[in-house]
This record gives sequence, structure tokens and C-alpha cells, in this order.
Amino acid sequence: MKQTEKWKWFYLLLGVFIVGNLGAMAFVKFVMTLRDTTAQTETSIMPSVPQVSTVPNSVPQVAAEPTSAPKSAVSSVPTNTSLVSVSPNLSVEKYGHLPYQEASQADVELVGSYGLSQKDERYEFLHKEASHAWLHMQFAARDEGVWLIIISGFRTEVRQTKVFLDQLKKKKNEAAAARYVAPPGFSEHHTGYTLDLGDGSAPKTDLKTEFERTKAFRWLTKHAQKYGFEMSFGPNQKETGVAYEPWHWRYIGTSHALAIFDRARKKSLL
Ligand SMILES: [Zn+2]
Repeated sequence: MKQTEKWKWFYLLLGVFIVGNLGAMAFVKFVMTLRDTTAQTETSIMPSVPQVSTVPNSVPQVAAEPTSAPKSAVSSVPTNTSLVSVSPNLSVEKYGHLPYQEASQADVELVGSYGLSQKDERYEFLHKEASHAWLHMQFAARDEGVWLIIISGFRTEVRQTKVFLDQLKKKKNEAAAARYVAPPGFSEHHTGYTLDLGDGSAPKTDLKTEFERTKAFRWLTKHAQKYGFEMSFGPNQKETGVAYEPWHWRYIGTSHALAIFDRARKKSLL
């Protein structure tokens, strides 16, 4: 081999070596870049993982609110039992109000909500026996363009204590307060078979005597009986010491319901 040919081979091999090395380096770099990209993708996923997982977490939280709210509306109330007076002796009356047994929380169910704005939305419950009748009646009214709403349904004695004390602040004594609000242990609302109704299109008449001038009230006087409801404290109840409450209706559509209000109904006939 000639000297020049040797050099040729030398340069050729060197060239191959350099190109090979450069190729290898490029390959390694490429692999590194790939790894980095994967790592970046991983790290970019990493922070989003908690985000992704918080989304499903927060969804049930949001969704849980309406379901947990009724629970707190009901279950938070009975915890403060110190406010409740001793369960009423079922043979006595208080300021014209008859005593009523509080329904078991297992027997009541959600039937609507009420509030002047969504911020103070309150969940309302009725005894299972009365709830369907109420929903049917509400639907029937809707079919005729009447917007019946539930303002207040089942109340625990603790809740009634609060309502009564609020009323007591406005009136000078218990007897005066009891004309408008039953003392705890003596409210038909304890049974879960009674509800205060309103006209959704006339909210200013809620829990006011003016409710009797609403479309909803006129509809009730004609049709409520068909669904098993009657007004508890009608305009002729004044002698009982309890004020006229056109919004307050009780369910008497089953024998059990009828038995609960038997005494009250007989009394109203006196
Ligand atoms: Zn009422």
C-alpha cells in the first residue's frame, strides 16, 4: 500500500469514527431530550393530578351541599336538646294548643325548600304519609296555574322553641305569643302532618292573613279536601285562643293522621 493510500484510509476511518461518535452523541442527546420531554410531561401532569383529583372531589362537595344541608337543617336542630322543655303531658293544653308527639326523623322526608333568597333557603320535611298527598296537591294546583309553596313543614321541639322565643320577643308575654305560635311540644308541625302554605306568586302574603286573598288560598279552599288537607285554625277558631291562620293546613287523609288530630277536630266543633 502506498503511503498516500494509508493516509486516505486513516482519514476515512477517522471520518467514520468522528461521524459515528457524533451520531452516537446525537442519539444520546436525542434520548436525553426524549427523557426530558417525558419527564416534563410527567411533571406537567403531576401538578395537574391533584387538580384533576380535586375536581371530582369538589364536585361531590358541591353536590353534597344540598343533600347535607337538609341533614344539618334537621339533625343540627335536635342536638341542642337543652332548650327543649320536658316532653308535654299529652293530656294538657297550653294557651289553647294541644300537645303533639314529635315525629321520628326516620319518618319524615324532604318535600321542598323555602327562603326569601337562595342564601337563606331552608329545607322542609313532611311525614312520609303526608308528603305524597302534598306533592300531588301541589301538582294539581300547578295544572290550574296556581303556585302552591311549602313555607314550613315538620318542626322539632327545639326548632319550635326558637320560633316561639322569637315570637315572645315581639309580644309582651307567653299567652300573647302563643296566639300566633304554639309553644314547643304543642305545635301540629311536630307531627310532620302539617304545613304552612304560601302563594309563590305573592310572597308578601307569606304567613299573613292577607294570604286568604291569594289565588293559592282560593284554590285550597276548593280543592285541598280532595287531597286530605284541611285548615287547622279557621276564621271561627278565635275562641280557642289561637289566631286565624289561613296558611296552616293539616293532613287527615289516613286513619293514623285523622287519629292524631281527632282531639283538635272535636275541639274545633265545640
Ligand atoms: Zn303552621
